[in-house]
Amino acid sequence: MDFNPCMKHQLIRKIVREFAENEIKPWVAELDRESRFPFDIVEKMKPLNFFGLQVPKSLGGAGLDTISYAIAIEELSRVSAALGLCVTVHNSVGIYPILEFGSLEQINRFVPTMAAGDSIGAFCLTEANAGSDAGGVETSARKTPDGYVINGTKIFVTNGGVCGTILVFAMAEGNPGSANVFIVEKDRPGFMVGEIEDLCGMRANPVSSLFFEDCKVPLKNLLGKSGQGLKIGLKALDAGRIGIAAQALGIAQAAFEDSVSYAKERQQFNKPISRFQTIQNYLADMATQIDASRLLVYRAAAYKDRGTPFSAEASMAKLHCSETARKVTDMAVQIHGGYGYSKEYDVERYFRDAKVTQIYEGTSEVQKMVIARSILTRPS
Ligand SMILES: Cc1cc2nc3c(=O)[nH]c(=O)nc-3n(C[C@H](O)[C@H](O)[C@H](O)COP(=O)(O)OP(=O)(O)OC[C@H]3O[C@@H](n4cnc5c(N)ncnc54)[C@H](O)[C@@H]3O)c2cc1C
Repeated sequence: MDFNPCMKHQLIRKIVREFAENEIKPWVAELDRESRFPFDIVEKMKPLNFFGLQVPKSLGGAGLDTISYAIAIEELSRVSAALGLCVTVHNSVGIYPILEFGSLEQINRFVPTMAAGDSIGAFCLTEANAGSDAGGVETSARKTPDGYVINGTKIFVTNGGVCGTILVFAMAEGNPGSANVFIVEKDRPGFMVGEIEDLCGMRANPVSSLFFEDCKVPLKNLLGKSGQGLKIGLKALDAGRIGIAAQALGIAQAAFEDSVSYAKERQQFNKPISRFQTIQNYLADMATQIDASRLLVYRAAAYKDRGTPFSAEASMAKLHCSETARKVTDMAVQIHGGYGYSKEYDVERYFRDAKVTQIYEGTSEVQKMVIARSILTRPS
């Protein structure tokens, strides 16, 4: 396949990079320090269609292909991984499952408002006793004549503090093996937002717990068919992993660029540290791993665009990009020496932000399970 970016992709990169550099970068350290979600920047992002990247134009979105989407997330995350997280979760595991499994009525009711950025999406699967093992979800949905009553607590929900449209994964009461996904609006009685988590990284994203106490939703808010929850969840995560891979790639790219500049500037032993073979080796390793990551992301995105199964490819991209982001940000701190460990330099933030890309939307260990399952079930 041709990995040369076409004009359209180059243009997307240019537009997002300029926006991120001009409108986000001046504030990014402050947002991280104050754990503040930037509502003002989000307002500026709305008209640029960041909240409807792959939504059809007829529903108010940008109608982009998945490669363009990945480039947009990569460029956003190169400057602010926390905003990259907000946008990728909203678009992939928030909007995509509604477009893919929703009825026409649901698509028309929810997607235009979400694409406009007026209702931010969240996807909640994780609970205290259910992380990697989605089958362990205890949140329940009791069927009533006119709908469902949801009870349970979700934890670590990205966009939790600002979400408007929430996809909730719940087990059918009395039939714990049967999972459903419900679309819950934030103003439904019985829905509550918990405290914002005090996280190591991604601090400008209001990750929180969400509570559902006798939260009634009408029948028309069940996404897909009854019992289809696991299928919807797994398909959403396949798409979501392309976004997280792109996010990790953006963090690694930023750490690499800062390291090259610093290595050229910083003088020790009367010469720039970039003259030392060890530093050159770090830079060569970083560049090679980043390029390999980029190819894996674009391959998974291209498979999704042409309708080829992409589950294993998305997991490979997520696994490789997140491992790369962790290693590259580690090397970036090392290249910066003591300054790299100080908040004076951005590499300290990249280092903290990178770690969680190995954890959410399936840990690295879980990605290996997905990849191995695909290898072992492939016809020989
Ligand atoms: C900042 C942040 C944002 C998040 N956003 C969301 C969100 O929006 N929505 C949501 O639903 N969740 C979200 N999560 C939760 C995240 O997806 C989970 O933390 C993740 O899936 C891992 O689950 P866990 O934390 O329960 O770890 P566990 O599942 O308890 O895993 C602990 C360790 O055991 C390993 N492990 C578990 N099972 C196996 C196995 N079978 N084989 C080998 N190793 C195994 C894991 O890989 C890990 O290393 C978020 C988390 C964070 C930190």
